[in-house]
Amino acid sequence: MSPLSNLAVRDIETVIHPYTNLATHRETGPLILERGKGIRVWDTDGKEYIEGLAGLWCTSLGYGNEELVEAAAEQMRTLSYTHLFGSKSHDPAIELAEKLKEIVPCEASKVLFCSSGSEANDQQVKLTWYYNNARGRPEKKKIISRIKGYHGVTVASGSLTGLPPVHMDFDLPIKNILHTECPHHYRFAEDGETEAEFVARMARSLEEMIQREGPETVAAFIAEPIMGAGGVIIPPEGYYQAIQAVLEKYDVRFISDEVICGFGRTGSMFGAETFGMKPHSVSMAKAITSAYVPLGAVTVEEDLYQAMLDESRKIGTFGHGYTYTGHPVAAAVSLKVLEIYERDGIVERAATLSPVFEKRFEALAAHPLVGDVRARGMIGAIELVADKTTKAPFDPKAGIGGYCVARAQDHGLISRAVAGDSVALCPPLIIEESEVHEMFDRLEKALDDTE
Ligand code: PLP
Repeated sequence: MSPLSNLAVRDIETVIHPYTNLATHRETGPLILERGKGIRVWDTDGKEYIEGLAGLWCTSLGYGNEELVEAAAEQMRTLSYTHLFGSKSHDPAIELAEKLKEIVPCEASKVLFCSSGSEANDQQVKLTWYYNNARGRPEKKKIISRIKGYHGVTVASGSLTGLPPVHMDFDLPIKNILHTECPHHYRFAEDGETEAEFVARMARSLEEMIQREGPETVAAFIAEPIMGAGGVIIPPEGYYQAIQAVLEKYDVRFISDEVICGFGRTGSMFGAETFGMKPHSVSMAKAITSAYVPLGAVTVEEDLYQAMLDESRKIGTFGHGYTYTGHPVAAAVSLKVLEIYERDGIVERAATLSPVFEKRFEALAAHPLVGDVRARGMIGAIELVADKTTKAPFDPKAGIGGYCVARAQDHGLISRAVAGDSVALCPPLIIEESEVHEMFDRLEKALDDTE
């Protein structure tokens, strides 16, 4: 291993890295990136990489987009900051809320902004609780998410997340958060169970949970259309239809976490559209600004808004909001991002390129290390296994996913190990067909080096 650079040493001495094995990091040090253009980034040694994960599933328009730089600069020049507390407002927030209401896959009455996906889902928890208190149903508070679901890391959104490292030592989950089963047929189907039988079992299991807890105590269900950080898990055909039937039966609010799937990733504007989901509300972040600046948002349905309104009449202030709720620079950038998505047909482009992306993924299934291949739209993953026949996983201590990702990095591809043994790709949506091939050629080399 080459000695760490001066900058890498300074990083280790000063920066806590989120979601990182801090002990390993002290030995390996960081990959320090310096600049980016299009789908590529360069490190401080001038080495080029394809950003195969669009940063953290977010830089949909790639790097160095001058229109976005200009939109931010223009807003900073005009009015760099004002807030939405009380009677203050500003044009970019109003326009963006209007625009989002038009395109979301649910009946949205209003939009509540924030600055991240975690905050968006934190707001979903608070709004669900607020709503049921306002409607005189203080016992209806439980929110169901799924094992392997990822919804963020704040105290509430981290509780929704169904991954052990987000809970361990943090005293999470908090009360009133439950986790139902993960719809990953390859990993969790019983012997000989068809996808249809598996789906029916998932729905039955959810219904049993609701009945066990008492339907009058269950308030909401939250799901990512495709689970991202939990392993890029694509539910089998008919899963959401079966789940929705249960939710409707018990009057459970359905929240689609579109933080990754939103804005074209699955080949439709929202993942809910790809899977025929009918949510009451959506959470958004990441590609809402193509990650040029932080922004998150949730939609609020009319019934919930009316409850909030009634409560304001009764108790006064709606006591929630951040300094940066609807930050004007973030809103201005988001408006420009949405304009580009529309003008340049970015969603259609993802849908058109998707067969090429999926075909290259499918071809990886023949590799001796690859047990499962999952891809939809422009997001996918391979799951590495020790034995393809038995699906036996590698010893977690081997860190096989991380090893493959490191080899990909050697070959100039940034990817990410998710849920241990899966390696994910989720490139910027501006990627060209030739670049899709280049990206997979690099991944194939990494896989060969992993054997
Ligand atoms: N929801 C989903 C589906 C995510 O993938 C993420 C982050 O990856 C979050 C929520 C949390 O977003 P953030 O990291 O912006 O807080």
